[in-house]
Amino acid sequence: MRSTSPKLHIGNYEGALRNWVQMQDEGYEMFCMVADWHALTTMEGKESGRFAREVAKDFIAGGIDPAKSAVFIQSHVKEHAEFHLLLSMITPLGWLERNPTYKEKQADILGVEREPYGLLGYPVLQTADILLYRPVGVPVGRDQAPHLEIGNDIGQRFNRLFDVELFEPYQYLIPKDENRAKLPGLDMRKMSKSYDNCIYLSDTADETAAKIKSAFTTPTKLRKEDPGVPEGCAVCQYLKLYSPDWERQWAEDVAGERGCFQSKKELTEVINEFLRPMRERRAALDDGAVEEILVAGAEKARSVAADTMDRVRSAMGLY
Ligand code: AMP
Repeated sequence: MRSTSPKLHIGNYEGALRNWVQMQDEGYEMFCMVADWHALTTMEGKESGRFAREVAKDFIAGGIDPAKSAVFIQSHVKEHAEFHLLLSMITPLGWLERNPTYKEKQADILGVEREPYGLLGYPVLQTADILLYRPVGVPVGRDQAPHLEIGNDIGQRFNRLFDVELFEPYQYLIPKDENRAKLPGLDMRKMSKSYDNCIYLSDTADETAAKIKSAFTTPTKLRKEDPGVPEGCAVCQYLKLYSPDWERQWAEDVAGERGCFQSKKELTEVINEFLRPMRERRAALDDGAVEEILVAGAEKARSVAADTMDRVRSAMGLY
């Protein structure tokens, strides 16, 4: 996850972090990285390092246990930079130029003069991040699928060019439920901090309540008796994800037996209940403890990454 902001939102949780925690609890060895270098492709200013610590806190608040999983910051493991450089020598430019996320981000940046070289190479750095750990799977939200595809192609190209079997294709682990794979925001566009439509894992109960109060519902449902259209209503979509009673709540919404105010009130209760343990875990973390976790996480990551780099250099005839 990139450290473009000090806060993860519930879209980051549903798309990725929920699976990270589940896989950790199933006994997989997890490498949970805060991508502070990646953040620099689109952020201005020099807050990436500070934000990275906050994102690491959100990993732990969300259920990552640093005793089981490595939690680390990308720039603390320099092998990522070396591998990125070597992979950049074997990645065809056309693969990167065709990447749909590149085209989107390019449009956001407005103007070739301000477009950094790193934006085009983003999937190459991301491939280095992934292949260094020779993983069986990479749990991410839907928007990352094109990058992960490029990553597998680069891995297979490396094997072919240097006649080795170093990189097995990995799986992309995207949530099956489309609403989790791409969680809608409070305004029903994709939840994204650039749209200002997020509920953050670290929001207080009152902040969450205020956001839900202004969330998008069925525009034609002006009175309780008007029929709702839950498929297009952010509040109903979240009820489906977080409320055990959502089927009844949806049926009442469609039948005009409940108003949006009631749905918002009930949603606030279930989301606050869902976020409560995360807020508690976050409050119990102090900055010194987080720093120690990151040092230990980087050490663990480095031991695997250094081994991969030995094999990479050897395959490429660099000694
Ligand atoms: P990023 O901020 O791009 O580093 O995203 C971190 C992770 O969160 C990636 O795995 C994304 O796919 C995932 N993600 C971001 N926004 C959403 C969303 N609205 N719904 C589901 N997953 C998301």
